[in-house]
Amino acid sequence: MPTLPLAPDPSAPALDPRPGLSGLAPDELAGWFTERGEPAYRARQVGDAVWGRSATSVDEIRTLPAPLREAIDGAFRFDTVGDTELRLSDGGLTEKGLHRLSDGTLIESVLMHYPARGAMRERHTLCISSQGGCAVGCPFCATGELGFGRDLETAEIVDQVRHAARRLNAAGQRLTNVVFMGMGEPLANYGPVKTALEILTAEWGYAISPRRITVSTVGLAPAVARLIAETGVNLAVSLSASTDVQRDRLMPVNRRYPLAVLLNACRELPLPRRKRITFEYVLLAGENDADADAHRLVRLLHGLRVKLNLIPFNPFPDAGFAPSPRARILRFQAILRAQGIGATIRESRGQDIQAACGQLAAARPAA
Ligand code: SF4
Repeated sequence: MPTLPLAPDPSAPALDPRPGLSGLAPDELAGWFTERGEPAYRARQVGDAVWGRSATSVDEIRTLPAPLREAIDGAFRFDTVGDTELRLSDGGLTEKGLHRLSDGTLIESVLMHYPARGAMRERHTLCISSQGGCAVGCPFCATGELGFGRDLETAEIVDQVRHAARRLNAAGQRLTNVVFMGMGEPLANYGPVKTALEILTAEWGYAISPRRITVSTVGLAPAVARLIAETGVNLAVSLSASTDVQRDRLMPVNRRYPLAVLLNACRELPLPRRKRITFEYVLLAGENDADADAHRLVRLLHGLRVKLNLIPFNPFPDAGFAPSPRARILRFQAILRAQGIGATIRESRGQDIQAACGQLAAARPAA
C-alpha cells in the first residue's frame, strides 16, 4: 500500500516552535504567569483544564479572561497531536490513532480494551510512540524499515495519552496502563521520555502508577540502568535471538551491546523485590524458533527474575520473514515452561489495520 512519507518533506511546515502545554511542569507554567504579573492560581486553572478536564482548546478555559487566553495561545500549543485519524479493529477493542504533528511527521498510538474476565478487571492499555520512525532498524519491524524521522517532544508523547484518556473518559472509562512499545526506541530519546514519565505519574498529571507503565527497549545497556534508577516503571527488553550471530542480524544494536553486555547490565539492575524484567521475543519461522533456541534462552536467562513474552511475528509488506506456525510457538513455550521460565504468548491485536506489534509504519493510503 502506498504511504505518506513519515519524515517531513520540503513542503511540510516547520516544527511549531511553541512548547506544548502538556509537556510543562506546574512550576514552569506558574513561572510564565508570574513573569506576566498574573497570579499563580492561573497556572492551576490551566493545569486543571489540561489534566483534569481534558479540554480540547484554550477557549474552553472560560475562567481565564479572553486576552489571557489569547496570550496563552500565542505562547504554547494546547494540543500537539490534534490532527488525529482513528481506525478500529477487533470489533472496536483496538483503536489505532494516526497523529500528524505540527511539522507533518506522522506517528501512531494504539489503544487496546480488555473486557473483565473472571477475576481480571477490565483494562484499557495505550501503546505510545517516542520517536517519529526509528533509527535502530530491526528488519522484522515496519517502523525500523521506515527509518528515523525525529525525536518526539515531551508534549507530543504525553498528548498521545491525553487523547486516549479523553476518549475513555467520555465513555465513562479510565486509562489503566501505558506501554512505550510504539514507534521508536524510548531510551534513545531519554530526556523527553523521562519527563513524560514524570508527568504521567505525577499527582497533578495523570497519576498513573509507575507499576502500570512499561518502557520497552532494544537494550541500550547504560540507559537501562539509568531508567531503573530514576523511575519506578517496568522494564521490557526485546531479545528476539538466542545467539549473538542471530541477534546481530535481527537487531543491529547487538553489535554495540552484545548479549553478554546486555544481560550483565540486567543482572546488575537494582530491581525492587518481586519485580521482574520482561523479555520480549518475536518468533520468526526458521530464524529463531528452534528447540535449540528455547534451550539456549533458558541458559542465557539463568539467575534473572524474568517473564518472557513470546510475540508471534506480525507480517507487513515486503517483510522477508514469516510467522512461526502455532504448533511451533506452543512447543517453544512448553520448553521454556518446563525449565521454570514463565513464558506467555502475546495476543495479537489489530493486524488488519496494521496496529499489531512491529507493524506501526504511520501508513495511510496516499491521496
Ligand atoms: S522493534 Fe523497536 S527498536 Fe526495533 S526498529 Fe522497531 S521500533 Fe525500532
